[in-house]
Amino acid sequence: MPEEKKSVSELRFDLVSKDWVVIATGRSRRPETFKSEQRIKEETSEKNCPFCHLENQGKPVLVYPDSGDNNWEVVVIPNKYPAFSGADLNERLVGPYRTIDGVGFHEVVITRDHYQHLAHFKIEKVKQVIDVYQERYLELMNEKFINYVSIFHNYGREAGASIFHPHSQIIALPITDPDLRRSIDGSHEFFEIHKKCVHCTMLEWDMKEKSRVVFENDKFVSLVPFASKVAFEVRIYPKEHKAYFERIKEEEKIKLAEVLQVSLNKICKGLVDPAFNFFIHTAPCDGRNYDHYHWHFEILPKTSVWAGFELCTGVQISTIEPEKAAEYLRNIE
Ligand SMILES: [Zn+2]
Ligand SMILES: [Zn+2]
Repeated sequence: MPEEKKSVSELRFDLVSKDWVVIATGRSRRPETFKSEQRIKEETSEKNCPFCHLENQGKPVLVYPDSGDNNWEVVVIPNKYPAFSGADLNERLVGPYRTIDGVGFHEVVITRDHYQHLAHFKIEKVKQVIDVYQERYLELMNEKFINYVSIFHNYGREAGASIFHPHSQIIALPITDPDLRRSIDGSHEFFEIHKKCVHCTMLEWDMKEKSRVVFENDKFVSLVPFASKVAFEVRIYPKEHKAYFERIKEEEKIKLAEVLQVSLNKICKGLVDPAFNFFIHTAPCDGRNYDHYHWHFEILPKTSVWAGFELCTGVQISTIEPEKAAEYLRNIE
């Protein structure tokens, strides 16, 4: 009788993006093997750091708290090398092609300390950063032509951070980026068919089943998604269905700060200071109704690089089972 072959991997389907991902199950790596080798820190010293010397930067658009005595914790400045600026859309058609000017805003959110970042902060301090994200969002969403405000954070050179000093970026755009667009469309389509939010559907199952939950409080939960794109991907969701990040209430922000800080801390301890990116996916501010959407944070530790297979097929391979990754992070104190 032929020996039954056990598959070495599993294809998992992402309900929202409709992407398939490959989860290595047979020869899945052990969580400990993801620890980043003691990274050679090429960090600039405080002396040469542009964010420790803000006098050479553009005038801040927000200082927080603004007590006027240089006791700020978070400051927002315009990006010196913006990917977007300009005042008018200037739409042009060239034959079958369409272009518009790269209209928008590009800002940098800087926290004061040169070495400490969100994973090391006290929860109240993480909340200040969330306060700033919200405040800038509310301001930028009302600017002319702005239909989406993207908030993201890169940590470590491998994650695209060109300056060591911890900072986040905010880009306000006239268009919805393709990644968010797919997320919105997937959520909308699921809602049309099932009359239910796709994220609420997943959360309901995941919170009962527990195997992918990393941390939770009464308002937010962080978990490793069923169809993780990369090893140790973590997402943070409000437990209650909410479409718009910018409408987060005061008492919810401290709860979000707790889940964000704990999740980042577990990743940084468990994987030994890996590079990572995180961003917020929230409903666009283009005036249309996105009540079906469920805003969330996505945290992507840099645990892999895209090689030929990923680039050629768009299918990502996660070399650890999401359930094992979650268990590992859950147990990190
Ligand atoms: Zn610095
Ligand atoms: Zn929902």
